[in-house]
Amino acid sequence: MAIGTELQGGTVTQSGTGIARGVVGGSPDTGNGAILEGNAFFKNPAVAGFEDVAYEEKERFFEAVRSDMRFPDYLYGCYECGICVAVCPSARFYDFSPRRIAQAAARKDVALFYQQMQEDIWECSQCFSCVRCPRGNNPGGIITIMREVAINEGMASAKEALEGYSRIVYKIMSTGTQVSPDMLQPDAFPDWGPEVRDVSEHLALWRRALPPETLHTTATSWDVSERTLIELYLIWMETGALDMIRNVDESLHMILEEVMEERLEEEGIER
Ligand code: SF4
Ligand code: SF4
Repeated sequence: MAIGTELQGGTVTQSGTGIARGVVGGSPDTGNGAILEGNAFFKNPAVAGFEDVAYEEKERFFEAVRSDMRFPDYLYGCYECGICVAVCPSARFYDFSPRRIAQAAARKDVALFYQQMQEDIWECSQCFSCVRCPRGNNPGGIITIMREVAINEGMASAKEALEGYSRIVYKIMSTGTQVSPDMLQPDAFPDWGPEVRDVSEHLALWRRALPPETLHTTATSWDVSERTLIELYLIWMETGALDMIRNVDESLHMILEEVMEERLEEEGIER
């Protein structure tokens, strides 16, 4: 596991294909350089590699993150102490390390940074436990910027990571409210694993167990007034949130626009 690789002296290395390798419990190599299929230590081979991406392009992504106004406040250098890794919940379960993120940024390792934007950043749970860094860094904040750039640039990793959330985004943006429990079905949330099956199969029971009356139904959550919904939509539009959606999911953006434009028209709002 990643935390193990961190504690064993930074044994994570980068292969020629850009696939990060963990070595706890033995080498993941077959011995002849071939990669063991399905080994949990490997990143998704579909997004690993990136030799076909020009250095200048990778540099452009790096600069986009570095030029963000928050960046200077999120990175002051790195002691390599690993405190951020020790407190990071994602490092316990994934081949992921906030220390590697901070170091790639501090060392201006453009190629590794690009690889992290295609692979690592979506493994962070954005809990910000890593802000207890003694150097004053905020690795989770750096990842926030990396994610924003990945979305704005329509990177493959952003599309892949957010693909399972289109229904949630649609629900929030078209109704102003969150997912209703009856939407929690295994086919809609495959990334939730067996948990979502358990929830969906016993939903009626879970609901009956909850005290407030309104939570006894699985069909609704709560009502949002039309005015609030329109205001929210205009905010998302003006702040660029809608553009971000278009970058990662054009079809979802088209549907949203169609639905919401109609509402704006009904309210007599011109853009
Ligand atoms: S914000 Fe991300 S990197 Fe930082 S501790 Fe949480 S999961 Fe780990
Ligand atoms: S806690 Fe801070 S100084 Fe220590 S490894 Fe993490 S980012 Fe570097």
